[in-house]
Amino acid sequence: MIAMKNLAAIILNCTSRCNLNCYYCAAKEFTDELDRNSIEKILNSTIELKTYYLMIAGGEPLLRSDIYDILDHANKLGLVIILMSNGTLINKYIAKKLKDIGVDAVRLTLDSTEEYKIDKIKGSGAYRKILMAINYLNHEGIGVNLNIPISYDNINEIEQFLNFAINNNIRTLRFSPIIKKDLNVEICEILLRQILVLHEKYNENISYIDYEPINELDEFYEVLGNLRCTGGRMLLNVNPDGSITKCPYVRRSLGNIKENELKEIWIKSYFNTKSSSICEVMKINLAVLLGNIVYNVKEVSIETIRKVVSAWYFMIKGKEEYCLRDLPLWYINLR
Ligand code: SF4
Repeated sequence: MIAMKNLAAIILNCTSRCNLNCYYCAAKEFTDELDRNSIEKILNSTIELKTYYLMIAGGEPLLRSDIYDILDHANKLGLVIILMSNGTLINKYIAKKLKDIGVDAVRLTLDSTEEYKIDKIKGSGAYRKILMAINYLNHEGIGVNLNIPISYDNINEIEQFLNFAINNNIRTLRFSPIIKKDLNVEICEILLRQILVLHEKYNENISYIDYEPINELDEFYEVLGNLRCTGGRMLLNVNPDGSITKCPYVRRSLGNIKENELKEIWIKSYFNTKSSSICEVMKINLAVLLGNIVYNVKEVSIETIRKVVSAWYFMIKGKEEYCLRDLPLWYINLR
């Protein structure tokens, strides 16, 4: 008998509506909003499926009039709730409400550190509204994480993003190359190289989990190379039309919550998803990529490389499955 793991995380794209119109947004492919019944069905199945994380995304989830009821229900089920928002609607009352209702973290997207660039992508005044949202969330003690879509337009701003994060009490930065537009080996290589350089330069500001130094880099490459995509097995993504996919970036539908129970869709997906060590959307061998960078990066001392790689190793060791776009390699956690 095959032992099944739990469905550790669900991404719930509860609406396709948004008050902004970012050019890279995947929600634009949908015109629907998930009905409340379907959402309740999903939330109620999380107990049996032993789900731990619920990422509430959109469109802009805060546009739903019933969003606080949804969040409240999720909180009562004991889920760790991460709200993904564009931030422009968060005022001090909403920040307080999110805190009172038990939202654990808010993930905001930041395209640039420059006001005119953000306003060009998100509309006039967006930068200031995002800054205010960060202040309100900080005031309430809700952790703010930044999702940074990386393209050739902002690849030179990596250090500025880190400084922005340090100055604004951000907990985590997650860098992520934009799919279709600029997701290729070159941009991943530039990004990883810069992340390593920042580890050297901002060592004091960066938080590292307790780790023991590893002796051989090859140990890390081996663990990295053996990791399997988690999508469809420990992660499911629910779209605003009720269709379910292995992750937000793969469009192939595994079923629809309006027609089937989540558990049924998950079990079928679990057995049918061929787990792969290469991400279906990224199509990059990370172990090879990182190996090339580590051997060639001249600006970073061997001590820093050892420290960073050891910390990464401790975060992923023992895991067989991990989303390769969500690996600690792409994150910087701040003190
Ligand atoms: S590894 Fe790739 S395909 Fe798998 S869940 Fe992550 S982004 Fe999706």
